[in-house]
Order: sequence, then C-alpha cells, then structure tokens
Amino acid sequence: MHILLSNDDGYFSTGLSALAEAMAPLGNVTVVAPDAEKSGASNSLTLDRPLMVRRAPNGFYHVNGTPTDCVHMAVTGLLDLTPDVIVSGINHGANMGDDTIYSGTVAAATEGYLLGIPSIAVSLVSDGQGHFETAARVASELVRQVQRKPLPQATLLNVNVPDMPFEQIRGFKITRLGRRHKAEPVIKSVNPRGDPVYWVGAAGPAADAGEGTDFDAVANGWVSVTPLQVDLTHFQQLEPLQRWLGA
Ligand code: MN
Repeated sequence: MHILLSNDDGYFSTGLSALAEAMAPLGNVTVVAPDAEKSGASNSLTLDRPLMVRRAPNGFYHVNGTPTDCVHMAVTGLLDLTPDVIVSGINHGANMGDDTIYSGTVAAATEGYLLGIPSIAVSLVSDGQGHFETAARVASELVRQVQRKPLPQATLLNVNVPDMPFEQIRGFKITRLGRRHKAEPVIKSVNPRGDPVYWVGAAGPAADAGEGTDFDAVANGWVSVTPLQVDLTHFQQLEPLQRWLGA
C-alpha cells in the first residue's frame, strides 16, 4: 500500500514525524509537506511563482508552497505511483466545525479527495505539545481499517483526537461538524518602527457543540470522525431564492 503524508505545520513538525513513524509498518510511505508553517492556508494553490522540492535527510520532501500544492504536486507529477490513501497531519490543534474552512490540514486531504484518492485529515485537540502518540495510533488504526476494507474513492474524513493517553480514549464516533462563535477580533500592536500591525485573533469558542457534533465527541473522550464533502451549494435555499428573485 502506498501512503502519502502531508500537513500544514511544516515538514519539521512533531505531529508529522509521529504520523510517519506510525505509518511506516503499514506500507510504502512518502512525505511531501510545506517547508514552513502554513496553518490557515486553506485550499490555496501557488500560481505566481514556481515550486521547488527538496529532500530532508530523513527522506521527507519539502516544498516552498501550501499543503494543497504539496498533495497536488505529489499526485500529479512527483510520485511514480498514485497513493492508495492520503493522510494529513497530525495537526497541532483542533480542526472542528468552521475550522475546516480555514485549515491547511483539511485542505491537503481535500486535495487528495478531489484527485480521487481516499483521504484522511488528523488533528490533535491540544493547545500544547500533547499526546501525538495517541493521534498516531488512531491514524494507524484507521489506515489498517482501510487496508482491511478499502474506502470508496470519494471519501474525505476529518478526524479529531482528544489529547489523552490512548488507553483513555472511549472509541470512535461518527459525527457532524459543529459550529464556532465568530472569531476573536484582530489584535492591534505596534512594530519596532512604530507602525501599527495586526494579528488575526483566535478562533471563537464552540457555539453548536451539541449531541452528534465533533466538539461533543472530543469533549467526551471519543475520537471524532466526520465525513466531509466539497459541494458548497445551500440546497435548502434553492427554492426560497427562486421565489425571492422570481426566477
Ligand atoms: Mn496546523
């Protein structure tokens, strides 16, 4: 089995190393990841300059681009074989609810999914260094399950792992995305030259963290697995909009 790994925290990140280590016994692993932190890169492609691939001493390929660039380049040119599964992560921090819109971790998996490869984004719900070994073991169990029972091509899974020892995890829960309150305002500061500068604020707290959501599962010690799709059409608004516009 050929397994492609990527992330949005950069090729040097602890979560990616933990993931690569956990995947090694399961197949032929290739890592193609950004050469810098790209959290929040969403599904962006680099179109205004060429991309370069370099190889780190540990064998990881790194690219001066986004997570989406990495997977796109790996699948459409860099690799000799099409991967059987793509795993993105392990992200340093949650990707639940609206986070999925901004996340580069989810985007790397989304790119795989759009290219017709079953793809899994894995995030550790932690503010600090946390239990990456737990998330790595979860990723390994999911890929083993893919080996036993292949996923349909059109599968994109968003996985969030509670930050605790593996033995304390209660199991897997299939969930829907929750929702966050709007993000914290930008933080205004002044740079050493006296110019005003702004930092994008933190994501908001959970607004919909009810039964069945990713937030609820993780808060209760479950691994959250949400199947995602990419069609943004708001189907319930088709008819009302038709009436509104008289179209
Ligand atoms: Mn990240």
